[in-house]
Amino acid sequence: MTHIAQNLEEVRTTIAAACRKVGRDPAGVRLVAVSKTVDAERVRAAMAAGQDIFGENYLQEAKDKITALGRQVSWHLVGHLQTNKAKQAAELFDLIHAVDRLKLARALSAAAAPLNKVQDILIQVNQAGEDTKSGVAPEAAADLLKDVAQLPHLRVMGLMTMPPWFADPEVARPFFKALRELRERLRDLTGLPLPELSMGMSGDYAVAVEEGATLVRVGTAIFGHRR
Ligand SMILES: *Cc1c(COP(=O)(O)O)cnc(C)c1O
Repeated sequence: MTHIAQNLEEVRTTIAAACRKVGRDPAGVRLVAVSKTVDAERVRAAMAAGQDIFGENYLQEAKDKITALGRQVSWHLVGHLQTNKAKQAAELFDLIHAVDRLKLARALSAAAAPLNKVQDILIQVNQAGEDTKSGVAPEAAADLLKDVAQLPHLRVMGLMTMPPWFADPEVARPFFKALRELRERLRDLTGLPLPELSMGMSGDYAVAVEEGATLVRVGTAIFGHRR
Protein backbone atom coordinates (compact mmCIF):
# COMPACT_ATOMS: atom_id res chain seq x y z
CA MET A 1 0.00 0.00 0.00
CA THR A 2 1.29 3.49 -0.79
CA HIS A 3 1.65 6.13 1.90
CA ILE A 4 -1.24 7.99 0.35
CA ALA A 5 -3.51 4.94 0.43
CA GLN A 6 -2.52 4.32 4.02
CA ASN A 7 -3.16 7.92 5.02
CA LEU A 8 -6.54 7.86 3.31
CA GLU A 9 -7.49 4.76 5.21
CA GLU A 10 -6.48 6.43 8.48
CA VAL A 11 -8.50 9.54 7.71
CA ARG A 12 -11.55 7.47 6.79
CA THR A 13 -11.18 5.47 10.00
CA THR A 14 -10.96 8.67 12.05
CA ILE A 15 -14.07 10.06 10.35
CA ALA A 16 -15.96 6.83 11.06
CA ALA A 17 -14.88 6.91 14.72
CA ALA A 18 -16.00 10.53 15.10
CA CYS A 19 -19.35 9.60 13.57
CA ARG A 20 -19.77 6.66 15.91
CA LYS A 21 -19.02 8.87 18.91
CA VAL A 22 -21.97 11.15 18.15
CA GLY A 23 -24.29 8.63 16.50
CA ARG A 24 -23.92 9.85 12.93
CA ASP A 25 -23.96 7.72 9.79
CA PRO A 26 -20.46 7.94 8.19
CA ALA A 27 -22.19 8.03 4.79
CA GLY A 28 -23.20 11.58 5.70
CA VAL A 29 -19.59 12.78 5.65
CA ARG A 30 -17.69 13.20 2.39
CA LEU A 31 -13.94 13.55 2.32
CA VAL A 32 -12.52 16.26 0.06
CA ALA A 33 -8.84 15.48 -0.54
CA VAL A 34 -7.22 18.91 -0.83
CA SER A 35 -4.61 18.45 -3.53
CA LYS A 36 -3.19 21.95 -4.02
CA THR A 37 0.54 21.74 -4.88
CA VAL A 38 0.21 17.93 -5.10
CA ASP A 39 1.29 16.62 -8.50
CA ALA A 40 -0.97 14.58 -10.76
CA GLU A 41 0.82 11.31 -10.03
CA ARG A 42 0.11 11.54 -6.31
CA VAL A 43 -3.48 12.54 -6.99
CA ARG A 44 -3.69 9.45 -9.21
CA ALA A 45 -2.48 7.33 -6.29
CA ALA A 46 -5.31 8.72 -4.18
CA MET A 47 -7.78 7.98 -6.98
CA ALA A 48 -6.47 4.42 -7.16
CA ALA A 49 -7.17 4.15 -3.43
CA GLY A 50 -10.79 5.06 -4.06
CA GLN A 51 -10.73 8.80 -3.34
CA ASP A 52 -13.32 10.52 -5.53
CA ILE A 53 -13.44 14.20 -4.51
CA PHE A 54 -10.47 16.57 -4.81
CA GLY A 55 -10.21 20.16 -3.61
CA GLU A 56 -8.05 22.71 -5.37
CA ASN A 57 -7.13 26.34 -4.63
CA TYR A 58 -5.53 27.65 -7.81
CA LEU A 59 -7.32 27.70 -11.16
CA GLN A 60 -4.43 27.06 -13.53
CA GLU A 61 -3.11 24.22 -11.40
CA ALA A 62 -6.59 22.72 -11.17
CA LYS A 63 -7.13 23.02 -14.91
CA ASP A 64 -3.89 21.18 -15.65
CA LYS A 65 -4.78 18.38 -13.23
CA ILE A 66 -8.35 18.05 -14.46
CA THR A 67 -7.06 17.82 -18.03
CA ALA A 68 -4.56 15.14 -17.02
CA LEU A 69 -6.81 13.13 -14.70
CA GLY A 70 -10.31 13.63 -16.03
CA ARG A 71 -13.73 14.02 -14.55
CA GLN A 72 -14.54 10.55 -13.26
CA VAL A 73 -13.78 12.16 -9.92
CA SER A 74 -15.36 15.35 -8.63
CA TRP A 75 -13.36 18.59 -8.40
CA HIS A 76 -14.12 21.29 -5.83
CA LEU A 77 -12.67 24.77 -5.45
CA VAL A 78 -11.99 25.21 -1.74
CA GLY A 79 -10.00 28.46 -1.69
CA HIS A 80 -10.70 32.13 -2.28
CA LEU A 81 -11.96 33.07 -5.75
CA GLN A 82 -11.50 36.40 -7.52
CA THR A 83 -14.55 37.70 -9.35
CA ASN A 84 -12.67 37.99 -12.64
CA LYS A 85 -11.98 34.24 -12.55
CA ALA A 86 -15.63 33.22 -12.13
CA LYS A 87 -15.95 31.95 -15.69
CA GLN A 88 -13.00 29.59 -15.41
CA ALA A 89 -14.22 28.38 -12.02
CA ALA A 90 -17.70 27.61 -13.34
CA GLU A 91 -16.13 25.61 -16.16
CA LEU A 92 -13.96 23.55 -13.84
CA PHE A 93 -15.68 22.85 -10.54
CA ASP A 94 -18.67 20.86 -9.32
CA LEU A 95 -18.77 22.75 -6.02
CA ILE A 96 -17.30 26.14 -5.09
CA HIS A 97 -16.80 26.33 -1.31
CA ALA A 98 -15.86 29.95 -0.71
CA VAL A 99 -18.50 32.36 -2.04
CA ASP A 100 -18.60 35.30 0.33
CA ARG A 101 -19.95 38.29 -1.60
CA LEU A 102 -22.82 39.08 -3.93
CA LYS A 103 -20.60 40.39 -6.70
CA LEU A 104 -18.83 37.04 -6.96
CA ALA A 105 -22.13 35.14 -6.79
CA ARG A 106 -23.55 37.22 -9.64
CA ALA A 107 -20.43 36.61 -11.72
CA LEU A 108 -20.67 32.85 -11.12
CA SER A 109 -24.35 32.74 -12.05
CA ALA A 110 -23.65 34.71 -15.23
CA ALA A 111 -20.76 32.38 -16.05
CA ALA A 112 -22.83 29.24 -15.46
CA ALA A 113 -25.71 30.38 -17.71
CA PRO A 114 -24.03 29.79 -21.10
CA LEU A 115 -22.72 26.46 -19.83
CA ASN A 116 -26.34 25.38 -19.18
CA LYS A 117 -25.23 24.68 -15.66
CA VAL A 118 -26.58 25.34 -12.22
CA GLN A 119 -23.42 25.96 -10.22
CA ASP A 120 -23.43 24.48 -6.72
CA ILE A 121 -21.83 26.78 -4.16
CA LEU A 122 -21.33 27.19 -0.43
CA ILE A 123 -21.37 30.48 1.45
CA GLN A 124 -18.12 31.01 3.35
CA VAL A 125 -18.65 32.43 6.83
CA ASN A 126 -15.87 34.13 8.79
CA GLN A 127 -16.95 32.88 12.22
CA ALA A 128 -13.93 34.25 14.06
CA GLY A 129 -14.05 37.70 12.44
CA GLU A 130 -10.43 37.39 11.34
CA ASP A 131 -9.23 40.27 9.14
CA THR A 132 -6.91 38.00 7.22
CA LYS A 133 -9.63 35.56 6.14
CA SER A 134 -12.38 35.75 3.58
CA GLY A 135 -15.95 35.01 4.46
CA VAL A 136 -19.11 36.91 5.22
CA ALA A 137 -19.69 37.97 8.84
CA PRO A 138 -22.23 35.66 10.51
CA GLU A 139 -24.64 38.57 11.09
CA ALA A 140 -24.54 39.43 7.37
CA ALA A 141 -24.98 35.86 6.14
CA ALA A 142 -28.79 35.94 6.01
CA ASP A 143 -28.92 38.98 3.72
CA LEU A 144 -26.25 37.55 1.42
CA LEU A 145 -27.98 34.19 1.29
CA LYS A 146 -31.35 35.73 0.40
CA ASP A 147 -29.78 37.65 -2.49
CA VAL A 148 -27.67 34.75 -3.73
CA ALA A 149 -30.64 32.36 -3.61
CA GLN A 150 -32.39 34.55 -6.22
CA LEU A 151 -29.66 34.02 -8.83
CA PRO A 152 -30.93 31.68 -11.54
CA HIS A 153 -27.80 29.65 -12.21
CA LEU A 154 -26.60 29.09 -8.65
CA ARG A 155 -27.71 26.62 -6.02
CA VAL A 156 -26.62 27.28 -2.45
CA MET A 157 -25.87 23.88 -0.90
CA GLY A 158 -24.80 25.13 2.53
CA LEU A 159 -22.06 26.86 4.48
CA MET A 160 -18.28 26.67 4.79
CA THR A 161 -15.93 27.98 7.44
CA MET A 162 -12.22 27.99 8.22
CA PRO A 163 -11.53 28.79 11.88
CA PRO A 164 -8.14 30.05 13.10
CA TRP A 165 -5.48 27.39 13.48
CA PHE A 166 -5.16 26.05 17.02
CA ALA A 167 -2.71 23.46 18.33
CA ASP A 168 -5.62 21.97 20.26
CA PRO A 169 -8.52 21.14 17.89
CA GLU A 170 -10.98 21.34 20.78
CA VAL A 171 -10.51 25.10 20.70
CA ALA A 172 -11.97 25.11 17.18
CA ARG A 173 -15.13 23.31 18.31
CA PRO A 174 -17.16 26.45 19.14
CA PHE A 175 -16.60 27.76 15.60
CA PHE A 176 -17.91 24.53 14.07
CA LYS A 177 -20.86 24.48 16.42
CA ALA A 178 -21.61 28.11 15.58
CA LEU A 179 -21.65 27.30 11.85
CA ARG A 180 -24.13 24.48 12.42
CA GLU A 181 -26.36 26.73 14.51
CA LEU A 182 -26.16 29.48 11.90
CA ARG A 183 -27.23 26.92 9.30
CA GLU A 184 -30.30 26.04 11.41
CA ARG A 185 -31.27 29.72 11.69
CA LEU A 186 -30.80 30.30 7.97
CA ARG A 187 -32.87 27.23 7.19
CA ASP A 188 -35.73 28.53 9.32
CA LEU A 189 -35.42 31.98 7.79
CA THR A 190 -35.23 30.99 4.12
CA GLY A 191 -36.74 27.51 3.87
CA LEU A 192 -33.64 26.40 1.92
CA PRO A 193 -32.45 22.91 2.92
CA LEU A 194 -28.74 23.88 3.10
CA PRO A 195 -27.60 20.26 3.48
CA GLU A 196 -23.84 20.85 3.43
CA LEU A 197 -21.46 22.05 6.14
CA SER A 198 -17.88 22.26 4.85
CA MET A 199 -15.64 22.43 7.89
CA GLY A 200 -12.59 20.70 9.32
CA MET A 201 -9.04 20.37 7.95
CA SER A 202 -6.14 18.03 8.77
CA GLY A 203 -5.75 19.26 12.35
CA ASP A 204 -9.38 19.35 13.40
CA TYR A 205 -11.63 17.34 11.07
CA ALA A 206 -12.61 14.82 13.76
CA VAL A 207 -14.02 17.62 15.92
CA ALA A 208 -15.74 19.12 12.88
CA VAL A 209 -17.40 15.78 12.11
CA GLU A 210 -18.62 15.55 15.71
CA GLU A 211 -20.18 18.98 15.20
CA GLY A 212 -21.96 18.05 11.99
CA ALA A 213 -19.53 18.52 9.07
CA THR A 214 -20.78 16.90 5.85
CA LEU A 215 -17.65 17.83 3.86
CA VAL A 216 -14.18 17.80 5.44
CA ARG A 217 -11.29 19.37 3.52
CA VAL A 218 -8.15 17.40 4.30
CA GLY A 219 -4.80 17.94 2.58
CA THR A 220 -1.72 17.41 4.74
CA ALA A 221 -3.05 14.33 6.53
CA ILE A 222 -3.43 12.61 3.15
CA PHE A 223 -0.58 13.94 1.01
CA GLY A 224 1.96 15.04 3.63
CA HIS A 225 3.34 18.53 4.11
CA ARG A 226 3.14 20.90 1.17
CA ARG A 227 6.30 22.25 -0.36
C1 LIG B 1 -5.24 24.02 2.06
C2 LIG B 1 -6.65 24.03 2.52
C3 LIG B 1 -7.21 22.97 3.24
C4 LIG B 1 -6.41 21.73 3.67
O1 LIG B 1 -5.58 22.05 4.74
P1 LIG B 1 -4.73 20.92 5.49
O2 LIG B 1 -4.39 21.56 6.79
O3 LIG B 1 -3.55 20.63 4.65
O4 LIG B 1 -5.62 19.75 5.66
C5 LIG B 1 -8.55 23.02 3.59
N1 LIG B 1 -9.31 24.08 3.25
C6 LIG B 1 -8.83 25.12 2.57
C7 LIG B 1 -9.73 26.25 2.23
C8 LIG B 1 -7.49 25.15 2.20
O5 LIG B 1 -7.00 26.21 1.54
